[in-house]
Amino acid sequence: MFLFRWLWTNMEGYKGRYILALCLSVVCQVMFLVTPMMSQQIVDTFIMPEDAAYIIKTQSTLLWQMVWIMIGFTFLRTVIQYSTNMLYEVTSQALIYRVRKKMYENINKQDATFYDRFRTGDIMTRMTGDIDMVRHSVAWIIKTVIESLTLFIASIIYFFSMDWLTAICLIALTPVIFGVSFFFKKKVRPMYVTLREKLSLMNTAAEENISGNRVVKAFAREDYEIGKFDEKSVDYSKANKRAALTWLDFFPIIEITAQALSVIQLLLGGVFAISGRITVGEFTAFAGLIWTLANPMRNIGTIINDFQRFTASANKIIEVYYGRSKIADREDAIDLPERIKGSIEFQNVDFSYGDIQVLHDINLKIEPGETVAIMGPTGSGKTTLVELIARIYDVNGGKVTVDGNDVRMLKLKQLRSSIGMATQDVLLYSDTIDGNIAFGNTSMSEEEVVRCAEYADADGFIRKLSEGYETIVGERGVGLSGGQKQRIALARALAVKPAILVLDDTTSAVDLETETHIQESLRNLDFPCTKIIIAQRISSAKDADKIVILQNGTIADVGTHEELIQREGYYREVYELQH
Ligand code: ADP
Repeated sequence: MFLFRWLWTNMEGYKGRYILALCLSVVCQVMFLVTPMMSQQIVDTFIMPEDAAYIIKTQSTLLWQMVWIMIGFTFLRTVIQYSTNMLYEVTSQALIYRVRKKMYENINKQDATFYDRFRTGDIMTRMTGDIDMVRHSVAWIIKTVIESLTLFIASIIYFFSMDWLTAICLIALTPVIFGVSFFFKKKVRPMYVTLREKLSLMNTAAEENISGNRVVKAFAREDYEIGKFDEKSVDYSKANKRAALTWLDFFPIIEITAQALSVIQLLLGGVFAISGRITVGEFTAFAGLIWTLANPMRNIGTIINDFQRFTASANKIIEVYYGRSKIADREDAIDLPERIKGSIEFQNVDFSYGDIQVLHDINLKIEPGETVAIMGPTGSGKTTLVELIARIYDVNGGKVTVDGNDVRMLKLKQLRSSIGMATQDVLLYSDTIDGNIAFGNTSMSEEEVVRCAEYADADGFIRKLSEGYETIVGERGVGLSGGQKQRIALARALAVKPAILVLDDTTSAVDLETETHIQESLRNLDFPCTKIIIAQRISSAKDADKIVILQNGTIADVGTHEELIQREGYYREVYELQH
């Protein structure tokens, strides 16, 4: 029921049209009865009486009228059917447009935990195949159910109006159909849930392989990847077959029941017609309409199959559609009246990914305008630590403050637009370099873009590209070196003139000379900025106002370069190793 309510809500603006389509479907099905009704009249009036030849001669106008009515109704029915289908199409397209839009908006609002939980291939399946299944349910499943039911009920009413005994004998078989449907539905439901999972796994395998094609090539793993995909594809295909073939177990019962209808009609109808209980015209009408009972029975398998498919898909969509990000603006969030100054403080901060605690009791104060370097072994929690400032994740204990305010009390938009981040894994969009740099500030001028590129020491190589700033970088920035991509990412982070700049290993792939140049530029930015630099190299960290050493999720040491090289510990070890 919930699913139907959900569909109904999303038909906003098209509800009237959908109701109209359903009503027209009903009308159309009832009109199917007109031809057999007329045939019955024709047989009883013009063919069966002993003086049939005389009646045809004298009442030929009536006969013609009846024939024209039959033709007229058939034509009208076709026109209505066409319009009805159009209405279903328009409504279902409007519905999925709305669902897709809302889903996409919601996906964009999700926090990082959501992206940790759902793979891209899985989200894409929800956005495409699942949504199409919803369209199919509105444009086909519901329509077919309504049409089958109307035809079934209308025929039964008509049958009763002719002869109740024949009608009862014919519908006596209906419980068999209900029984079969019930057992079939129970058996097939879990199969479609599995089927949907297999589809998602297959799409995830394809997505990971495509986006990771360079790694696949570098390790010559094409055959392995093809095999892996093939395995998922076979799994999906098998699940599909298993679900589709299940109907075959029940099909003979349905088919025998449907055929039995014709036999009953022929035998009983024949006997009743001979005994005079029903007229020959009525016998013809029974015979002509037996399909209106048999067809809905035959459709039941497809309807149940499709309905289960729809339920599995709709549940997947709804999970994303109604999923709410835990990281969102609080109702009493404060609006800072002016630009953030950039002081940051971690107070007794604990953080875990699920059950695994990665940060323990972190206490750290960063003053506005300071440059702080964070160093430590891989996996010590450096990236996680800086992500807490922008609320990519929320702390589990303690608090992070910016300008003295708990970040959870600030408006997300204001907080995040005050932070420029260049992350470890640089993703450039399939856009011009200019567009990529101006990503966070689309209104910036050409000169400003160039200025940011200069800060990042990227202007030189960008100008050497065939189209300069207008060069389109491919998906994931194919065509640029790692260091070049990092420099564009740095320019992009600077473009928002952030109060807090976070560089997560951003200069790891640039040479030392360029790095020195970038450091020099960062010292001379034309706006106030607190800088946090995660680094692996001493050269990236040594000029910082303070260097924080993170080990196993705790702060092991804090000091300047001079202080830290005096002391035993991680920094001195790295220093000695790198010199
Ligand atoms: P660093 O930046 O110092 O290399 P990270 O902050 O990236 O460290 O990771 C710290 C720890 O948290 C690692 O053990 C890592 O495996 C784990 N981790 C990082 N990101 C996630 C995530 N999204 N889900 C679960 N665990 C994660």
